[in-house]
Amino acid sequence: MRRIAVFYTGGTLGMRASSNGLVPALDGIAERVARLAPPNVECAFEAFSPLIDSAAATPAHWERIACRLAALRDEFDGFVVLHGTDTLAWTAAALSFLLPGFGKPIVLTGAQKPFSIVGSDAPDNVADALAAACFMHLTEVTVAFGRRLWRGCRVRKHESLALDAFATPGLTPLAEFDPEVLWHAALWRVDTVPFSLRPFNPNLRVAMMMMSPGATVACLADMVERNKLDGLVLLSYGSGNTPDDPRLLAALARAIERGTVVVNVSQVWNGAVDMNAYATGSALAAIGVWSGGELTPEAAQTKLQILLSADYTPEQRRVHWISDWAGEGAPGLALLN
Ligand code: ASP
Repeated sequence: MRRIAVFYTGGTLGMRASSNGLVPALDGIAERVARLAPPNVECAFEAFSPLIDSAAATPAHWERIACRLAALRDEFDGFVVLHGTDTLAWTAAALSFLLPGFGKPIVLTGAQKPFSIVGSDAPDNVADALAAACFMHLTEVTVAFGRRLWRGCRVRKHESLALDAFATPGLTPLAEFDPEVLWHAALWRVDTVPFSLRPFNPNLRVAMMMMSPGATVACLADMVERNKLDGLVLLSYGSGNTPDDPRLLAALARAIERGTVVVNVSQVWNGAVDMNAYATGSALAAIGVWSGGELTPEAAQTKLQILLSADYTPEQRRVHWISDWAGEGAPGLALLN
């Protein structure tokens, strides 16, 4: 008998209609989930209170789930987290980074249509998540969605209505459930470190800003000047370029001098940052902006917040930033040479 803990945090999967649109609900979700468990699997169900639309999630929400997983790690063989799709990619990345060496499957899922609606994707997604959570060799955080299993720290939502809502840019799925079940175990990560829960400060101010032509540039410079941020993820163009606007560069340089860590991540779906490719990118590198390599925006923001929560020296921060934590596509140690 395998024991799987299921945490229900909210999201469309369990929502019901209200006069203002869909709202999170508890009705019958535990029973529906239990009916989808494979033979010889016992599910323990826990609903978070309050249930939320994941659009309301904050870093404190990531911390709460991580702490609950850590507390129950020894009691269960695998874990399933039922989550809204809107910010599922941030939570999946945060859990991937917060729980190094966890050593057991943690599978997130949700749905585009509530369980109660005919044609809902919830039954397939939950059944796939439960099946994956039974695999003791799947020792990484994953997302079961759209009949595929994805790496948690690289996943992004790319459809707001279609059922195949998630994918990992540049990385094929870790398993497929349809038309036949294929476990691509050769792609799965192997834990090499003992388990720990990384320190985390949900109150650090880590923001993300997307570059666009026009007024954004001045707004961004102004925002950086006015706010004392701990970290800033710049969503740049292409290979890591921003407009070569002197106000923006000066504002970023001042923020870096004041202690803000600024990282550069491409806004392109299959993007990777190479700040030496163009003069605009190298101007950022010259003032101390860090490359985000192939990191997704969600992975960059969560990794930066977790990195800044630790008591690291500036050099240790730099080394951790470019090091691989969970297969996220970090820039790599070559950058230090
Ligand atoms: N707004 C919902 C949420 O993220 C969307 C969903 O679950 O699909 O909770």
